[in-house]
Parts: sequence; structure tokens; C-alpha cells
Amino acid sequence: MASVTFEGTTCLFPGSNSPAVDKLDLQIEDGEFLVLVGPSGCGKSTTLRMLAGLEEVHSGRILIGDRDVTGQEPKERDIAMVFQNYALYPHMTVAENMGFALKLAGTNKTETRARVEEVAKMLDLEPYLDRKPKALSGGQRQRVAMGRAIVRQPQVFLMDEPLSNLDAKLRVQTRTQIAQLQRRLATTMVYVTHDQVEAMTMGDRVAVLDKGILQQCASPRELYNRPKNVFVAGFMGSPAMNLFTLPLTDRGVAFGDVVVPVSRETLNGTPETEVVLGIRPEHLEIAAAGIPMDVDVVEELGSDAYVYGRTTIGGSPQQIVARGDWRNPPQKGDRVNLRVDPGKVHIFASSDGRRLG
Ligand code: ATP
Repeated sequence: MASVTFEGTTCLFPGSNSPAVDKLDLQIEDGEFLVLVGPSGCGKSTTLRMLAGLEEVHSGRILIGDRDVTGQEPKERDIAMVFQNYALYPHMTVAENMGFALKLAGTNKTETRARVEEVAKMLDLEPYLDRKPKALSGGQRQRVAMGRAIVRQPQVFLMDEPLSNLDAKLRVQTRTQIAQLQRRLATTMVYVTHDQVEAMTMGDRVAVLDKGILQQCASPRELYNRPKNVFVAGFMGSPAMNLFTLPLTDRGVAFGDVVVPVSRETLNGTPETEVVLGIRPEHLEIAAAGIPMDVDVVEELGSDAYVYGRTTIGGSPQQIVARGDWRNPPQKGDRVNLRVDPGKVHIFASSDGRRLG
């Protein structure tokens, strides 16, 4: 087991205008489950591949424990990676696939077999040890790929979208299994996904990347409750947080008849004339008075409902979404009034998107 440290780590690709990963500073604790998340092209795979030794580091360095691995070959790093496509050897049985790295490392047959059987038991793969990958389901192949990594007892596991080839139900089951397994093995895990639900449910901490830059690294709860900027606020949460650019007055910012105070200290002396007001869908209530919303779509989920519609705030038309467990949710075509608890809103600078206060 070991910690992982990125220190000002940068990766440039030839011909690309901006770095794929730009001066990344990130410390991952020994035994931690760290999820890298962000939209397509944000640099999460490149970060993982630099750690694996598959992508060149142009400046800065990477440490595993106190070893500087920046210039090391992948095989010297004591890591095991699970890829999106599993990369199993088709001509080998499950047992041979799982034991291959040990065989290469010169481990004797008896020990290899014992380790493979132990891990196969952990992953419910015992009945399939003599099968070839083509005779397995997608979920079983995924478990073989994980088993192959676990058998090696590496210091760090790396996983790049390992669930993306599974159907929705299996994804949910498997993400729980992976999270439980990691806690049981207590091996440091760096896990890449573009799916924010996966990130929130699996990670001890989640690192959010955008355009090659780390935006925030925090616990799922902290990311959701105190996003550091507009990007994180809009990315984490489904449906996404409502974000409105509104004028700032001496009293604060007004959402209908509710005025959210914004103190001058909060602004840190920056001359903001507008701010971005963020409201999670579950913090909007249907009330007798408030901001009027014309309902376009209602999604009933059984336990609660999402209501999508249009409103006019700050003089311009805006899309808005509310979520609640109303016994009788509004219907398409209805006009309802929305109110917000001023204690539940998020305020960001409109100039650079940073959180205010
Ligand atoms: P995705 O979820 O789509 O896989 P990602 O967040 O993992 O995205 P990366 O694959 O790390 O993103 O790519 C980061 C940036 O680097 C992207 O803008 C991508 O176009 C660029 N990039 C990746 N590989 C190369 C390459 N071999 N040459 C040039 N640019 C590249």
C-alpha cells in the first residue's frame, strides 16, 4: 500500500494548444479510494496514464509512497491497471489470465494457483477458472480483469471506466462490489469515470477536472454542499444545479421576493455587479407566492418527481428544474410559484465563477 502524490504534474500532447493536464497538485492517501471525474477530454485518463507510466510527464513529478516514479517504466511502478475493454488474453483461460503477471514475475506454480483461487473466490469466479474469456458474460469478464489486478497485490490499483461496457443494472451492482472490495483490501485506488453518480457513490474523495485543470478535490458531501466554483456546482448533481446570473444590489441578490444577502466582505473587494445564484432542484419549493414557473415536463420517479419549466428572472427567460416528493406534483401546462430558502443557495462570482463565502 502507498500514497500517491502529483506535484505540478503536466502532460502536453504534440500539436495540442492547451496541456492535457496542467500543473496537477494532488495528494492521494494510503488506502484511499480517489475518483477522477470530469467531462470528456478533461484529462482524467491522461492523469491515470501518467501515473501508470503510459504517458510522458513533461514537468513536475509523481511519487508513489516516497519513491519518485516519474521516469520509471510501467512495470517498475508496482501498480495494476484495469482498462475499459478489460484487455484479457483470448487464448488463455480465466485462471491463466489471472495468473499471467505472477508467471512472468517467476512466482512458482503452486503459489500462483493458490493466489488465483483465493481471488477467484473473492470475486465469485471459481466456476469459470477453466473457461476462455469468450465463454463469459460481460460482468464476468469485468471481474476477471479486476481479479488479474488483485492477484498481483500491487501498491496501487488504477481503473479507467471499468464499468462502461456493462448494462445499467450490472453497473450499479458492480460499483458496490468494487467499493466494498477496495475497502476490504485497503489498497490505494485511483478510479476514472465520467459518471458523477459513480464518482459520488464510490469515492472517499472525488477530484473534479475540467480542461486539464483540477477544479476541486473533496469528499462527495463537500463537493455537493460547497462546490468551489460554478463548474463543480453545475457538474456534480443530477438534474444539475439551477444557475442564474443576476444583478447584485446593496441588499444582495433577489430571487423573486426572497433577497439573499451578499456581504461586501464576501466579495473580497472585487467589483462584482452581477453574481451567479445557484439553487439545487431539491431546494425549490412550490409555494403560494414566489417566482412563477410554466411547467413543460414532469418526470415521476415514484418516490419523487422532477419538474422542468421556464421562468423569467432578472428580466430574461430561463430554464428551471425543481425536485420534490409532492403527493400531487404539478402537471405539464401548469403555472406554479417557486420559493427558495435563502440559507440553501450558492453564490458565485460572475467574473471567474469562484464561490463567494
Ligand atoms: P474521455 O472521457 O473522453 O476519455 P478524458 O477526460 O479521459 O476524456 P483525456 O483522454 O485524458 O481525457 O484527454 C485529455 C485531452 O488530451 C483531450 O483534449 C484530448 O483530445 C487530448 N489528447 C489525448 N490523447 C492525445 C494524443 N495522443 N495526442 C494529442 N492529444 C491528445
